[in-house]
Parts: sequence; structure tokens; C-alpha cells
Amino acid sequence: MNILVTGGAGYIGSVTVEQLIEQDYRVVVIDSMERGHKKAVHPDATLVEGNIGSKKTVADILRNYDIDAVMHFAADSLVGESMENPAKYFHNNVTCGLTLMHTAAEHGVKRFILSSTAATYGEPNEIPIPETHPNAPTNPYGESKLMLEKILKWFYQSYGMQYTALRYFNACGASKRFGEDHDPETHLIPLVLDAATGKRKFISVFGDDYPTPDGTCIRDYIHVIDLAKAHILALNTDGSGIFNLGNGQGFSVKEVIAAVELVTGKKIAVKIAPRRAGDPARLVASSEKAQKELGWKPLYPSLEDMVGTAWKWKCANPEGYKDK
Ligand code: UDP
Repeated sequence: MNILVTGGAGYIGSVTVEQLIEQDYRVVVIDSMERGHKKAVHPDATLVEGNIGSKKTVADILRNYDIDAVMHFAADSLVGESMENPAKYFHNNVTCGLTLMHTAAEHGVKRFILSSTAATYGEPNEIPIPETHPNAPTNPYGESKLMLEKILKWFYQSYGMQYTALRYFNACGASKRFGEDHDPETHLIPLVLDAATGKRKFISVFGDDYPTPDGTCIRDYIHVIDLAKAHILALNTDGSGIFNLGNGQGFSVKEVIAAVELVTGKKIAVKIAPRRAGDPARLVASSEKAQKELGWKPLYPSLEDMVGTAWKWKCANPEGYKDK
């Protein structure tokens, strides 16, 4: 089976490509390299440097490589940036995503797997959050992904292209070869690891007065290899639908810092900072549907495993991919 992976030079895309290749799929990666890394592209994948918003580029790939299914990771994904520059998010994520989806449907692609997000829910009124929870994104990033999900639903109805939208909670961890290298880095675990290596002097905890047991925000961290495996299960499951991917357990910011101290053996300096705008106190997924319908089960649910693999990757790649 021939799979086109958009954004295969990024964090979750690169680990998914690795899993696909380990399972003998033939993979073509399209990546603009704006945020991706050449070194993150598995050597057995074919890399096309280009933009998913170019109908010709996408059509050529679909035809030349006889693509059966598309996994779509390429997107802008910074919540703060999306608030400052919504036009960029609606253009890159929705307009370019629409071109990709339409071209795929026209070329008879059978399955489309979308990298979606828990940000489609907004402020939760129920924990753990089921897929039936109302959608009320609080930022353009979440809205842009929700729009893609809606387009896919209609494309399925009218063009018969089956789709799976996977709503990730907090991706983290690394495989042996591929890990998280963002610029700028905004995610908690890599930032706390930078405080462990001394690259950062301290970690700012955004608020310690939330209505949670230790006052800090709770998130559902999920290992990137578990996310990658869910994509392959989705590829092999008939029908269309939307699934949460989280491990069903929440960990607070302070628990993450404690796990980093345990794994690295280093004391982390902490400064309590003001709350970050738009942060809900608690976001935890119900992944029952993915477990039941995709047969998915996280293999690395422990926080120590998630932090531990990220730490190993950071120690092996202290400056990340060093290709920018
Ligand atoms: N966070 C923090 N300090 C940081 C970065 C993040 O306290 O330097 C908190 C953030 O407020 C949130 C949690 O860590 O409660 C996870 O944030 P991240 O940006 O990793 O993921 P998000 O949940 O926003 O997608």
C-alpha cells in the first residue's frame, strides 16, 4: 500500500512514517520544510519538498506514486500564533488542506487520515471528554482543524473518500531515532527537559491557582509512538469517524516536573508565572471509542516512559536535528 504523508518531516509525522516503514508500507512524504527537518525524514521514504496547497504538486505525487491513502499532518499548530495571525491559520490549514483533500478525492484516494486536535472542544464541560462533547474551539487553530473535519465529512458523503480524524491530546516522547525539535519550543515537556540540561535556567509554571489538586493545569499526555500506531490502525479500519487519542489519565504541570526530576536526576528550578490565556484547568480524553473501534491501546501510558524517551532523544540530540 502506498501512503502519502504530509508533514512527514515534522514531529508526529516523522514517527508515523517510521512506524509505516517498519510495517512495510511504501511512503512518500511531502513537506514544505518551513518547520520540518530533512533529517527527520526516514531514509526509506521518498521526500518531495513542496506545498500541499499546490494542486499540481499533489496531483503529480498521487499519480506518480499510485497513492492509496493520505495521512495529513502538515499544519500550523501554535495556539498563540493563531490568535495573532488567524489568516495564516485559515490559509495554511484550511485553504491548503482543502486543495489537498479535493485533489485526493479527485484521484480516487480511498482513505484520508487527518491529524486533528483536542482544541476542537474548547473549554470542556465534561471530563473525560468524549467525542460527542460539543465543539467550541477557543482559538483559530482549533477552529481550522474543526473546519477540515467538517469538509471531510461532506467529502465522504459526496465523493466516498473514507476519513478518520484523530483528535490528539498532548503528544510527547520520542522514538529512538525521531523526536521533538520545534522552533520556537512552547511545549511543557521539552521545555522542562531544557531546564534539566541547563539550556534554560528555570521553567515557568503558568498558574498554580487552578481548581486542581496541586493548583496546576492537568493535561492528557500521550506517547508519539502510540499516536503513530493509531494512524495505522485507522488506515486498516473501514468506515469514517472521529476519535480522541489520549491515555485517559491526566498529569499536572507539577507532576510532569517531578517526573523529569526523577528521570534525569536533576533538580528543576521553578518559577510560578501568571496563567496563560485560554488554558483550561483540565483536559483529559476519553479514548474508549478508539480502543473499541480501532483496537487501539496506548503502549506507553506511564509519564516516566513518556518523559524517559524524550530525555533519551534529547541526550542523543542536544541541539535537535541541527539542520536549520
Ligand atoms: N505550561 C507551563 N509552562 C510552560 C509551558 C507550558 O506551565 O513553559 C503548561 C501549560 O499552561 C499547560 C501545560 O503546561 O497547562 C501543557 O502545555 P503545552 O503547551 O505543552 O500543551 P497544550 O496543553 O497547551 O497543548
